[in-house]
Amino acid sequence: MSKNNQKHLKKYVLDEGLCTGCGACVNLCPYQVIYHDRTVQLHQCDLEDGKCYAFCPRTATDLAALRKLLFESDDFTTEIGAIKGYYFSQATDPELRKIAQHGATVTALMELALSEGLIDSAIVSCRNQEFIQNGAIVKDKTEIRKNAGSKFTVSPTVAAFNQLATEDKGNIGIVATPCQALALGKMRLNKKNENENKINQLKLVVGLYCGWTLSAEKYAKLLLKKNIALESITKMDIPAGKNILELYTSDGAKSVPFDEVQDCIQEACHYCLDSTAEYADISVGSARFAGSWDKVRQWNQLIVRTQKGRELVDLAVKRGVLEVWEAPAESLKELKDAAVKKKEEALKNIIKKSGSVKNLLYLDGRDPVVLKYLGVLGRL
Ligand SMILES: Cc1cc2nc3c(=O)[nH]c(=O)nc-3n(C[C@H](O)[C@H](O)[C@H](O)COP(=O)(O)OP(=O)(O)OC[C@H]3O[C@@H](n4cnc5c(N)ncnc54)[C@H](O)[C@@H]3O)c2cc1C
Ligand code: SF4
Ligand code: SF4
Repeated sequence: MSKNNQKHLKKYVLDEGLCTGCGACVNLCPYQVIYHDRTVQLHQCDLEDGKCYAFCPRTATDLAALRKLLFESDDFTTEIGAIKGYYFSQATDPELRKIAQHGATVTALMELALSEGLIDSAIVSCRNQEFIQNGAIVKDKTEIRKNAGSKFTVSPTVAAFNQLATEDKGNIGIVATPCQALALGKMRLNKKNENENKINQLKLVVGLYCGWTLSAEKYAKLLLKKNIALESITKMDIPAGKNILELYTSDGAKSVPFDEVQDCIQEACHYCLDSTAEYADISVGSARFAGSWDKVRQWNQLIVRTQKGRELVDLAVKRGVLEVWEAPAESLKELKDAAVKKKEEALKNIIKKSGSVKNLLYLDGRDPVVLKYLGVLGRL
């Protein structure tokens, strides 16, 4: 009997604390749903092979096949995946930068893709009144802009993509964390029946760098303890080198020591090797260079990974939407070092959890990237 079914998704992912909350198993059938920010099974399904299992970023994946499908082999690096170009960037619109997280590169690129007709709809992450995140399918620039900014709680964004089965939204662009970009990559690898049309609609994946996400429940409790009203928060950030979570609220800026925030990180993030959204067309994070944080925070790091990503960034420069400059080699080295640290840490946590280097949970020990960093761990 096949093990690629909903029962095994529960046994090996949900019950093991590996679920990232990406939403890729939701809206495929009536049995898998999101409750607040958790993925729950309402009913057991009898299918031997489930798309829920096949698309989940925490079930076995042929990563080598996926890299081959999405990227040119010459661009590949073991530290951060494919690189066609590495830049610092910011949106030229200062009003957009004010409401965005950093340089507004993500929002500017999604807006451009929409206005140029490269996509017909965008999927971004939106927050409801109870401070719960969800994917939202939007069709105009105002809605993309309204949802700018990072929310550090889990967002089951891919569930919104799965909704497309019943809705005609044309070509799609999506903003995705690394685990979400991997789930979408697995959908491309596993083109099955009715899924084929839908995944062919996906024309653009803009990935976010990601160190972790927070459990909404734990985070809400922490803020309650600190007398910070959830609804008063307009923006949040982790300023470089300060070890705090900075919250901008209607009562002014507040900060929470990062040690306290750490307890709210969802368990699955401790087993995640990807910090730069390696399976996206373009990946965007916060910039790091010498200077005041107020200046630095208005810039992004930008990795172009695919030809499609290259064309969009070139167009953004041509249209005057983005300012882009080649990032220095030492910045790329710093990024790679940080990415390797995350990979090694995650591998250590995986081995600690499974109890054996021979059991890497969702990873294949023969994959060249896994093999490389396992080797490094062995020499420590
Ligand atoms: C959970 C999380 C962790 C992150 N960790 C890091 C990190 O460790 N290092 C780093 O350099 N950068 C990290 N980032 C990325 C960073 O916060 C910015 O998103 C990135 O620099 C792009 O900035 P921007 O101004 O271009 O984004 P904007 O133009 O403001 O666009 C941000 C986009 O992200 C979407 N979004 C917001 N919250 C979520 C969410 N929870 N899940 C999915 N999509 C979301 C929004 O809908 C919007 O489309 C993280 C982001 C998130 C959401
Ligand atoms: S990681 Fe994503 S696909 Fe896997 S069980 Fe969790 S929500 Fe579903
Ligand atoms: S750290 Fe990894 S598992 Fe956690 S939200 Fe980010 S990409 Fe997903």
